Amino acid sequence: MTNTNDFRVAVLAGDGIGPEITPPCVELLERVQEMVGGFTCRFENFEAGAALYQRDGNALPDETLKGAEAADAILLAAMGLPDIRYPDGREIAPQLDIREELELYAGVRPVRTFPGLPIPLANERAQHLDFVLLRESTEGLFASRGKTEMVGDDSAHDRLTITRHGSERLFDYAFKLADKRKSAGHPGRVTCVDKANVLGSFVFFRKIFAERAEKFPHLEADYAYVDATALNMIRSPWNFDVLVTENLFGDILSDAGAALMGGMGIAPSADIGDKHAVFQPCHGSAPDIVGSGKANPTAMYLSAAMMLDWLGDQYGSPEAIEAGALLSQAVEKSFAAGDLVPHEMGGGNGLKDITDRVVANLQG
Ligand code: ATP
Repeated sequence: MTNTNDFRVAVLAGDGIGPEITPPCVELLERVQEMVGGFTCRFENFEAGAALYQRDGNALPDETLKGAEAADAILLAAMGLPDIRYPDGREIAPQLDIREELELYAGVRPVRTFPGLPIPLANERAQHLDFVLLRESTEGLFASRGKTEMVGDDSAHDRLTITRHGSERLFDYAFKLADKRKSAGHPGRVTCVDKANVLGSFVFFRKIFAERAEKFPHLEADYAYVDATALNMIRSPWNFDVLVTENLFGDILSDAGAALMGGMGIAPSADIGDKHAVFQPCHGSAPDIVGSGKANPTAMYLSAAMMLDWLGDQYGSPEAIEAGALLSQAVEKSFAAGDLVPHEMGGGNGLKDITDRVVANLQG
């Protein structure tokens, strides 16, 4: 690890509400950086996304990819617009290309509820959820993206890819994450979520999981089928600690996780590799609310807090970790009184109200 406290952050605002929620997020990052001191983030803006594709015919210019690659971390807001597509009908998703190019194999999707916000589950325990869904992000069924084999007009085939290399690094990440969480009072349990009762590729996935689990004997390793996990995410999600799964399963389950938190606008995410990492809210570009002031920036702010935590961890800067915690706590405190409810959750608060409250809580 190279110790540093001077970070280059590539900022990709992207499409839809992305350019609305990005500037206040960068301002918040500058604010916590000033408050804590001892580290600096230099922000560099780059273009990518569906609107750019419509304009220039290229959703991810070389300059952006190179800029992202040269940065210490990438902060990405939202990309893709439903009406702008590739000629074969697929959505423009340069964030997936970045994941593949930079080998961001660990898709970290924290599911944490904030007391004070309306959530769909009535059980009191659902008010205090804190688990992490880890989604493999470079292979699985998504490895077939753009490579569908068509047999005439009779059948279409997408291939599910599970590799030893991809699985080993994912499981090691999962166990290290559970270990870190265990020191913070969580159970220290990793659950392998698969469909090993039906598909041989998942039997292989499980086998590798069991092999890697042996390296972490002080942690608990268990297994669950993806269908049972979907059930338990609604029935008893408070029992989870770290769930680790294949790309498409993770894609689906992480939306369920966002629902447990109350909505897409609350759920943060990170896609992490050995050298690079992207931090991005789970939601899409929400074109239906662009310009209305209704965008909920919470997921973006929490993703930015995760970025500071990761930078601090990766490069040995306790100050960056402290700043990340400060930002995350200010967000949590903003909702505690129950009087700040985002539009998407049936309330009357949008980008400005939520940002003002977070800023006030940082100061106070
Ligand atoms: P993608 O496929 O790119 O993930 P999506 O089809 O899931 O996108 P989103 O853009 O996430 O769609 O939007 C789904 C719904 O949630 C829309 O009605 C949108 O307005 C709402 N929504 C998403 N993000 C936010 C947000 N940050 N604040 C408020 N509403 C949001």
